[in-house]
Amino acid sequence: RQADIECRMVVIGSGPGGYTAAFRAADLGLDTVLVERYPSLGGVCLNVGCIPSKALLHAAALIEETAHSAEIGISFGKPKIDIDTLRTFKQEKVVDRLTGGLAGMAKQRKVRVVQGVARFLSPNELEIAGEDGKTQVLRFEHCIIAAGSQAVKLPNFPWDDPRVMDSTDALELAEVPKSLLVVGGGIIGLEMATVYRALGAEVTVVEFMDQLMPGADKDLVKPLADRLKKQGVTVHLKTKAAKVEAGKKGITVHFESADEGQQPALASGTWDRVLVAVGRAPNGGKLDAGNAGVQVTERGFIPVDRQMRTNVPHIFAIGDLVGQPMLAHKATHEGKLAAEVAAGEKKEWVARVIPSVAYTDPEIAWVGVTETEARAKGLKVGVGKFPWAASGRAIGIGRTEGSTKLIFDEASHRIIGAGIVGVHAGDLIAELALAIEMGCEAADIGHTIHPHPTLSESVAMAAEVYEGTITDLY
Ligand code: FAD
Repeated sequence: RQADIECRMVVIGSGPGGYTAAFRAADLGLDTVLVERYPSLGGVCLNVGCIPSKALLHAAALIEETAHSAEIGISFGKPKIDIDTLRTFKQEKVVDRLTGGLAGMAKQRKVRVVQGVARFLSPNELEIAGEDGKTQVLRFEHCIIAAGSQAVKLPNFPWDDPRVMDSTDALELAEVPKSLLVVGGGIIGLEMATVYRALGAEVTVVEFMDQLMPGADKDLVKPLADRLKKQGVTVHLKTKAAKVEAGKKGITVHFESADEGQQPALASGTWDRVLVAVGRAPNGGKLDAGNAGVQVTERGFIPVDRQMRTNVPHIFAIGDLVGQPMLAHKATHEGKLAAEVAAGEKKEWVARVIPSVAYTDPEIAWVGVTETEARAKGLKVGVGKFPWAASGRAIGIGRTEGSTKLIFDEASHRIIGAGIVGVHAGDLIAELALAIEMGCEAADIGHTIHPHPTLSESVAMAAEVYEGTITDLY
């Protein structure tokens, strides 16, 4: 069959990885087509991920802030929540504005956007199936696969019942249920728990592991766990959702303990809605990549080299479907790199670390090795920790529960990891990603003058604690 579309570069998927790759390829002179199954560009991140969740978390933070303002002598009434306006703000003022902006940027660069579902026919051809069932054949010279991931749907849940939600459903904000069970105490589960609790739902979180936010150090998770408890969120650790029944009165979930033979802390319960947030699965297995000779693992990941090339050299893969961490800033970085390599630049992946942030209240952010990982690996490390109770700024804003922790290699005194819990931790962690990339020693960080009074001072102070130049925390 004759090709309907020909191009030098095709990008499959318009998430942060895909649109970055397509725009960069076009900027470098490659005639580029961007294929996306949905009418709106931006992928998971802009449409049903990072961006809408942060818009709703902003609303949650406002509610939380005003709830505590009486402590400093300023009282507001009970918040009146207009869920329709909040939903419109999230969708029209935030998501649509950003996705519309992407469409404009694609047009400006003459990136041709084709709506449809792509699958490989051969190493140089895709078939694109439109919503109307019509198919087009696209012939390409280079391809970047950026088809992302989707929420894991636990098989024992009745997914045809609208009261059972994944994160996409939860972000739609159809209603604020009286009660909500969140299965999974990771970043997405806890961000959504924060939103729904602030909006008035009674929230219960169950987590299989022995701590919330597995992956972050326990001491950094504690202030978040304490605050959630204060807000009335019930948490059960080492608990696994087993049998689930959809009934008239709600969704009934029976639990098992993560420890075999033990009784779970909670045997069962019934909730108005249930959010399942137990991770995301890559979409690599859904593209008939075998027709192009591209290797895909059993789980659906596509292996790539340091230039983001798959085993087929003119086909690249980026973003969530090449592996963990499944984060937007990793996808954009990889997208740019793949486009540049395809355009002939001699580059490879050089990032040492990728920061992770949970935009909960307080936020938790970490980068490089965690203390838990360092100890498990037997690395010889030293820790400098600065409690925010000693920070003038944290005291001034009434948020002293934070702490900043830096992890240094004992031999070289170079920073190899950092973790922060507290408000704005996500903004503060960027400095430490730079410090690790630059190979900074404790003295470089401690002797860099940070503005006073800011939360960022805690970074320098933690380095000084490690160096021993601060002994009494003032
Ligand atoms: P995606 O964003 O997954 O985009 C892939 C695109 O490909 C989709 O638009 C899809 O429709 C399209 N597609 C798939 N298959 C085909 C096909 N065959 N043909 C055509 N099109 C196809 N990350 C952060 O860094 N910070 C956050 O705060 C954050 N918050 C999140 C909150 C939630 C609720 C969720 C679910 C995720 C969050 N993430 C966050 C993760 C982030 O969204 C992802 O890491 C990121 O979107 C991955 O980008 P990507 O380019 O790999 O793919």
